[in-house]
Amino acid sequence: MPVGFSKKFKIAVGYPPIETDKGVPLLSQNRQFQFFNAKTYIYPMVPAYAASMAKQRGYDVVWLDGIAEEWTYAQWLAKLAEEKPDMLMVETKSPVVKQHWAVINDLKEKFPNMLLVWVGDHVTYVPKEIMENSKLDYAITGGDYDFMLSDLADSITKGVTLVGGIWGRKGDNRVKLSEFVKYEKSDITGEIDAYWVSGPLKQTHNLDELPFVARDLTRWELYAYANGNYKYTPATYMYSGKDCWWNRCTFCVWDHTINPMGTYRRFSPERLFAEVKHVVDNYGVREIFDDAGTLFVGPPLKKFCNLLIESGYNKKVVMGCNMRLNALTQEYYDLMGEANFRFILYGMESGNQETLDRLDKGLKVHQIEEGVRMAKRAGLEPHLTIMLGYPWETEEMAKNTIAVAKRCFQKGYVDTMQATIVIPYPGTPLYKD
Ligand code: SF4
Repeated sequence: MPVGFSKKFKIAVGYPPIETDKGVPLLSQNRQFQFFNAKTYIYPMVPAYAASMAKQRGYDVVWLDGIAEEWTYAQWLAKLAEEKPDMLMVETKSPVVKQHWAVINDLKEKFPNMLLVWVGDHVTYVPKEIMENSKLDYAITGGDYDFMLSDLADSITKGVTLVGGIWGRKGDNRVKLSEFVKYEKSDITGEIDAYWVSGPLKQTHNLDELPFVARDLTRWELYAYANGNYKYTPATYMYSGKDCWWNRCTFCVWDHTINPMGTYRRFSPERLFAEVKHVVDNYGVREIFDDAGTLFVGPPLKKFCNLLIESGYNKKVVMGCNMRLNALTQEYYDLMGEANFRFILYGMESGNQETLDRLDKGLKVHQIEEGVRMAKRAGLEPHLTIMLGYPWETEEMAKNTIAVAKRCFQKGYVDTMQATIVIPYPGTPLYKD
């Protein structure tokens, strides 16, 4: 143990509350940050895996999701004071990052010895920004912070050489830096080596090596009921892939920052099934939503469905997932129906070919109706998400999108729908446009 850590090293993973009257801030496990009127708490899968991995590596871990717990900021601080973690990891996003700079500085004042680690899409896109604007200790870039949080703790507590992709400050002698370390200048002070970057980021971890989510530790009940994606509760989330094998849509922030092109990885069907079985057997879970950007397709999907069917777990649990509208044939939908898939969420985005092409959606307008028709025929309950307000969109185009979605409804191919206003996120091609 390094100086100052004579007891077992304790890691907290969580979110500070965001005190607002705009609704429930959906920060966790959400590609697009939004405020929800209806209470909705999405299980933050990567932070949950980070906590579970840290526990597996022998650390004391506490879960402090101030948003889902509905704590005030003062209550969250009181929890931190009670738990006294040595390190705190928080995921942030662009719309709240400035609030988080203030939180970081406040925490540094109140708990000067607690090491602060921030992660997420915004931090990955502009890591220097948060280092410059707050007293943050470490920024982990990329989407593999489920593994890398423990790697960072291992470097601090065991002297293991730090993996690449992590930012820190000059003069930090708690971690062991590799020969690949690079230094970055502060644009504020002009100091040429104000920050170090621990080396190139590698996102090659084998996801099958992740432990099952420690659901008791991560307070799974908080996320088991208040979520519109569930019909049967208690329900829970899985995250079988980082993030989406299509990986291209120009607005999709996770697929351009934390999980960029070339880094897609997924669970094996056997690994996913093992965790499904685990939550059904041990927690009585009745429905599972797999939140990989798009669920795996082809032989792995066939294998996964067959595992559910052959084991009889298709009688015990209902499955849901995100899917692309033109990814599956009727044969696959039928197999998913038999495996007891219910909720299937499609990002339709637009009913205009020009917009779909500009978004690199890889989708033809006619495939929208074809996709939901096949899903419905197999007994699934399709959900469409559309977006309005693209910079190039005319009123007529927006109306056309609504008309395409409405037609799917009228034909009985779609059960539910969600419309959002486009928000271009820093780090996406749409934002750069
Ligand atoms: S298909 Fe969905 S998850 Fe995949 S890149 Fe496009 S928007 Fe993102």
